[in-house]
Amino acid sequence: MPELPEVETVRLSLAPHLVGHRVVKVEARRISLREGIEPASWRARFTGTRILALERRGKYLLARAERAVALFHLGMSGRMVLRRPDESREAHTHLVLRMDHGLEVRFVDPRRFGVAVVLRAEELETHPGLGRLGVDPLGDGMHEALRRAAARSRAPIRSVLLDQTVLAGLGNIYANEALARAGISPLRRARAISSKRVGVLAAAVRRVLEEALEAGGTTLRDGGFVNASGDGGYFSVRLLVYGREGEPCVGCGAAIRRRVLTGRSVFYCPRCQR
Ligand SMILES: [Zn+2]
Repeated sequence: MPELPEVETVRLSLAPHLVGHRVVKVEARRISLREGIEPASWRARFTGTRILALERRGKYLLARAERAVALFHLGMSGRMVLRRPDESREAHTHLVLRMDHGLEVRFVDPRRFGVAVVLRAEELETHPGLGRLGVDPLGDGMHEALRRAAARSRAPIRSVLLDQTVLAGLGNIYANEALARAGISPLRRARAISSKRVGVLAAAVRRVLEEALEAGGTTLRDGGFVNASGDGGYFSVRLLVYGREGEPCVGCGAAIRRRVLTGRSVFYCPRCQR
């Protein structure tokens, strides 16, 4: 499942091909995604329009155009790819925007948990996913937001990290990795953690996301276009705990443990993380 660094890398790689360019043709299939594609509104609002900006909020991408805003979420398996028109279309290509430079931006989503909707700018703030998003973990105010949320939460700290109304865009892999780097157990009750250690955790969140972004940037420089995909699409960040159940901790050699917490795995070292 794409997380903030993957979505940000998609933004960085698509922006030069979208911003300042005009959409000359829209092909959209009526299909029910998490929020369904409405072909008529796509065609009416995006044919002939110029894209003014490509922004990210949490894991959402917003393409601001002259008459509307397109809102994308990659869900579990969504990808946005840049292709020549003569390149064959993958299965589950739901939306194709032909740009004035001749290339196509395609939205592909086999599992259909994604979002590709057209909104008016004033609808953004009331959108159910966007309206309640917390602060960006790479932006200002992140330390303070995490401290406040942790101090009042009886939930395990991993749940606070994944709460999108606290930090927008952080997902399970990087949450586990940040906890490992901060030496904090994902199972520890949030408000029992000292403010100082929450500060260490906030710094670790930022560091692990920046590492992943840097890895994505490297991939971009080396390989051109990158698309975020849930299967093997993660950047080569060195994972200390995630997916390493039973393997030795790089810090102390103890076996990494896995537990399931609210339906998602947590991975941690029972010795280094308290
Ligand atoms: Zn350890």
